[in-house]
Amino acid sequence: MKFLDLVAQYKSIKKEIDKAVERVLDSSIFIGGKEVEEFEKEVARFCGVKYAIGVNSGTDALFLSLKALGIKSGDEVITTPFTFIATAGVIVNCGAKPVFADIESSTFNISPESIEGLITPKTKAILPVHLFGQMADMDEIMKIARKYKLYVVEDAAQAIGAEYRSKKAGTIGDLGCFSFFPSKNLGAYGDGGMIITNNKKLAEKIRLLKNHGSSPKEKYLNLVIGTNSRLDALQAAILRVKLRYLSKWSRERAKKADYYNKNLKGVGDIIVPKINFGRSHIFHQYTIKTKLRDKLQQYLKEKEIPTMIYYPLSLHSQPAFKYLKYRQGDFLEAEKALKEVLSLPIYPELGKKDQDYIIQKIKEFFEKS
Ligand SMILES: *Cc1c(COP(=O)(O)O)cnc(C)c1O
Repeated sequence: MKFLDLVAQYKSIKKEIDKAVERVLDSSIFIGGKEVEEFEKEVARFCGVKYAIGVNSGTDALFLSLKALGIKSGDEVITTPFTFIATAGVIVNCGAKPVFADIESSTFNISPESIEGLITPKTKAILPVHLFGQMADMDEIMKIARKYKLYVVEDAAQAIGAEYRSKKAGTIGDLGCFSFFPSKNLGAYGDGGMIITNNKKLAEKIRLLKNHGSSPKEKYLNLVIGTNSRLDALQAAILRVKLRYLSKWSRERAKKADYYNKNLKGVGDIIVPKINFGRSHIFHQYTIKTKLRDKLQQYLKEKEIPTMIYYPLSLHSQPAFKYLKYRQGDFLEAEKALKEVLSLPIYPELGKKDQDYIIQKIKEFFEKS
């Protein structure tokens, strides 16, 4: 059994993917061109926003978003410590300081209540992460942002297509960022990312920054210092095929999550994922909590069931952030979560037999312990 089976996914759409790849090879237009432009339009339409800009990765999407907002040395950006390193790394790479706020224990997302007390005159933006495929509490976050005139950049790397009161992930803040890392719900066959927005000025600025600040009108006229961050045509062509399946795949993930919920609720001390009111969860990860996490993971490993711990460390405890001088105990919910979380295999192609086996072994573990 695999934690994620990308081969099974490829096999299910092989004909269409191979045709798309062949189309790009035949055209030999590898950078920019129609495939990238069409994919950008399709993602914009899927999300219901005006602008979508393809970039090199989810990390670059976040970095260029902060750059476009003018985040720089001396600024502070408030984010969650319970996320992938890139979320906070990009803040540092802009010269700014990450300021962590604790999470809600039920959704693992940034807790709006813990944000307000952290705002200083240096605070420029809030960077919520929609972890595991469920959006953070955007109404509350936007209220705070409006009150203190802060920008909001949504890290929607794990949440493409998820909704909050019928609004898609990435469309509520000033900018939304996606990752097309292969294991994400919409995964490329390499690196890729995208920024979405309704703000024309920001969209234009990002287009400049992602292409060396080159004037769209005159070649070799560079208006600002930017970088090279491109989504290439091969990835765009592949992602165009996959985007057509994304909603179906998300529904299938939700079905599997539902099946886990029904069967694991009440087993031992397991807490199944909570979906908050008004939100849809795309289950990038299906993450349970149990105090016996390490023993359960070991037991499942012996039964050849792969599981993952997202995340084993809260960012405030990472050696790379030692200079921020946070201490053990500063983020109690994040510290509690990292000891209890366990992500189980979930993907559209996960077979019922495999899922039943996983459930059976989890039940067996708790009967024995
Ligand atoms: C995957 C991920 C990123 C980074 O995306 P890459 O495409 O790998 O650069 C950023 N934030 C979160 C929450 C992610 O899961």
